[in-house]
Amino acid sequence: MIDFSLSDTQTRIVGTARDFGRGVLEPAELAVDRMPAEQAFSSAEYHRAMSGAFELGFNRMTLPEQVGGLGLDPQTVGLVWEELARHGVGFAASLVAGSVVPALIMFLAPQNRRLVEKYVVPFCEDASGTKITGWGSSEPQIGSDGKNYDDLRVHHATTATLCGDSYLLSGAKSAFVSNGGVAWALAVFACVDATRGLRGSGLFVIDGAAPGVTRGRAEDRLGLRALNQAAISFDDAALPGDQMIFAPSEAYPVLHHSIMTVGNLATGYLAVGLMRAAYEEALAYARERVQWGQPIIKHQLVAKKLFEIQAAIESCRALLWKGSWHAKTSFPGDMKTSVTAKILATRLAVKHTAEMVQILGGYGITKDYKLEKYMRDAHLLTIMDGTNDTLMVALMNHG
Ligand SMILES: Cc1cc2nc3c(=O)[nH]c(=O)nc-3n(C[C@H](O)[C@H](O)[C@H](O)COP(=O)(O)OP(=O)(O)OC[C@H]3O[C@@H](n4cnc5c(N)ncnc54)[C@H](O)[C@@H]3O)c2cc1C
Repeated sequence: MIDFSLSDTQTRIVGTARDFGRGVLEPAELAVDRMPAEQAFSSAEYHRAMSGAFELGFNRMTLPEQVGGLGLDPQTVGLVWEELARHGVGFAASLVAGSVVPALIMFLAPQNRRLVEKYVVPFCEDASGTKITGWGSSEPQIGSDGKNYDDLRVHHATTATLCGDSYLLSGAKSAFVSNGGVAWALAVFACVDATRGLRGSGLFVIDGAAPGVTRGRAEDRLGLRALNQAAISFDDAALPGDQMIFAPSEAYPVLHHSIMTVGNLATGYLAVGLMRAAYEEALAYARERVQWGQPIIKHQLVAKKLFEIQAAIESCRALLWKGSWHAKTSFPGDMKTSVTAKILATRLAVKHTAEMVQILGGYGITKDYKLEKYMRDAHLLTIMDGTNDTLMVALMNHG
């Protein structure tokens, strides 16, 4: 029998996320949304929100307790992502991507004590919110092609060349690396053997401030403005040989699918949190706003729009919980469920956040209300972790 009830622990953790979301994340998210990108990531609001999130452990939820993580199960983690995204989807997106380096080390190289001590333990101990991490796969010429495993012409242009005991990284990642401009450490896909297409790529961990690494300026974007995104470039950046945590191999698609399975599930939860924000704000407005002598919620088309978004929230959440159940029973989970849930939830978030703007009429498009921001944020989720179009193609070919 499937159980939808929450444990006392889950209820408590979600309550903590809600209080933090309302009290700290939401005001910071709204402030950062209005700042020019070049100011946002050095602002007091940004740092207060990130340090608060790290203090409460929202950066290390999935990491095991023996290295300082919280060791939470995938469903609890999903509940928290929804709650944080309800109040600050940009910050939530940053935190989702932010644990990628320690998570990949614990997944691919947990026996490498040096890397665990260097990257995982300090990440878990950090209360300043500055040890955020990121991962770079997409490049200017290989954006959506990152899932094209079988065309040998497609390979990362960023190269890793063995030089004695070290690798030298050279090249550039696209402007869309999440946390790219602020990352303390990065996981980078780079080509070691171009004759093998993407199967010739390895995965490397490198310090964000290492010599030869340049972090670009923050992109000024439509939405998710509390998420830093920037290009990274490498100019013969040297790293010890054991910082290659995945060597070129036939298993490349399996690794990429694992990352997609975990990442898409989290993005789906962000979309549900965002839809909830839009729904709750529009519902409150529709109950209060009186036109033609009655609250606008009494108008059938307004009620229908509200019904449809709450139906979308419930059905997407149910699919995401199934995805979390898969992740709990056999990590990293089921790619088909995760990707389907992400595509569905993000697509519906675009549709319904726009409908919620409409419920507020002229006021919906003003900055006095939050609805226009939710609509802007939603669009980015359809591109994050692979564009929905390319995810559909990948799923039908490899899922
Ligand atoms: C919020 C956000 C966070 C991100 N975070 C990261 C990150 O942390 N690390 C990282 O490496 N990348 C990240 N990305 C990049 C992202 O994952 C996309 O893969 C990438 O932006 C797409 O590449 P592109 O912009 O060059 O588009 P292109 O590849 O040029 O695609 C342009 C259009 O063509 C379509 N298209 C291209 N190929 C196909 C195809 N074969 N079939 C059907 N349609 C196709 C695409 O769907 C798209 O609509 C992020 C992007 C966003 C928006």
